[in-house]
Formats: sequence, structure tokens, C-alpha cells
Amino acid sequence: MAEQKATNVTWHEGSVTRDERQRLLGQKGVTVWMTGLSASGKSTIAVILEQMLLHRKKHAYRLDGDNIRMGLNKNLGFSAEDRAENIRRIGEVAKLFTDAGVIAITSFISPYKKDRDSVRASMKPGEFVEVYINVSLEAAEKRDPKGLYKKARAALAAGKGMGFTGIDDPYEAPDNAEMVIETEKLKPEQAAEQILKYLEQRGYLAA
Ligand code: ADP
Repeated sequence: MAEQKATNVTWHEGSVTRDERQRLLGQKGVTVWMTGLSASGKSTIAVILEQMLLHRKKHAYRLDGDNIRMGLNKNLGFSAEDRAENIRRIGEVAKLFTDAGVIAITSFISPYKKDRDSVRASMKPGEFVEVYINVSLEAAEKRDPKGLYKKARAALAAGKGMGFTGIDDPYEAPDNAEMVIETEKLKPEQAAEQILKYLEQRGYLAA
């Protein structure tokens, strides 16, 4: 990685205020940060939530794990260091969307509390809504839509771990999430509906 670091850089304030942008869009910028085990349902719920918001004429945009790893973060792997950098970059992108007045919906495992908390700390109060998409490891392994748990179990049995979250890499559940979604009790549509309701009740869907 290039070691040249930016030094003589100052933040250039624009003349369009946050308020003006929000009034134009009729909503408040926010990041809905979904975290949870692989196969917990983050992407499924994010897709439905984005659709529900767009039907209400609200501007929402999904940032999704695999999609970002194919582009912006394709040079990153799954070591603890790379996972931290993955989340840092996504956090910065989500922050830009939020500043632009968009409802950014992120769906990344984001297994480490410290990494999620630094994204939270980089935003203003109320801009970061952490949603814990909860599922037991047993249920996630049963769903296994991409066969990743199966692969991770096989790798572990062969003595060469994959560092897969929940199997041979830890998942640190949030203890201060704004919302907890119990995916073993709710259908994906109901989960998305709950998040939508939260956003509405807290005033994010109006300027
Ligand atoms: P993630 O993005 O967290 O890795 P995905 O959304 O890709 O998870 O996969 C979750 C899988 O679980 C999908 O196949 C989905 O249909 C299934 N599923 C079963 N019940 C639920 C639920 N209540 N909420 C979300 N997904 C569910």
C-alpha cells in the first residue's frame, strides 16, 4: 500500500447547509447500520427496507458487504486489520451519504465492536442507527444460503481455518444498539417494517 499520506489538507466548507439539503429532500440523512452474523438476514432485510423507503419517495441507498468488496475494498482480505479498514472505509462512505441527506443502509457483518463504535463516533448524535440483526449460530448455519458455513466447517476440520465469523473468528454483539431485530421470530418483511417505523417515529422521514 502507498505510504504517501495526505498532510496539507483542510476541510472545505460549502455554502449549501445541511438544513437546505434536508428540506429539498424532505428527509434527514441517517446511516442505518446493520450488523450480525453471516446469513442473519442483513442483505435480505436491507433490500426490502430500501424498497419500502423508495415507495414512500424517500431517498435510500444500500451499501452491501459483497458489493463493496468487489469494488472500493477489493484489495482487502479478512484479517482483523483488513476487517477494520473495510469498516472504516464503509463508515466514511456512509457518512458522506448521510451528509448528503440520504438514508444509507449498510449490511456488513462488522463483527468487532471497536470498529462499529468508531464509525458511530465519527458521526453526529442521531446519525448512526445501529441495528443488530440477531440470529443464533445454529439457525444461521441451517440457512447458509451461500454455503459459507459449510465451507468454514470443512476448512476447520481440515486444520486450515478460514477465519470465518462465528466459526473461527469472533462476533461481538452490540450492547448499545438502537434496535435489535429477532430474525427467528420475524419474517424479513416484518423486520424491515419495524426499522421503517423506527425511522418514521424518530422524525427521519420528514425534513
Ligand atoms: P446476510 O446479509 O446477513 O449474510 P442474507 O440476507 O444474505 O444474510 O441471507 C439470509 C438468509 O436467511 C436468506 O436466504 C433469507 O431468505 C433467510 N431468512 C430466513 N428467515 C429470515 C428472516 N427472518 N430475516 C431475514 N432473512 C431470513
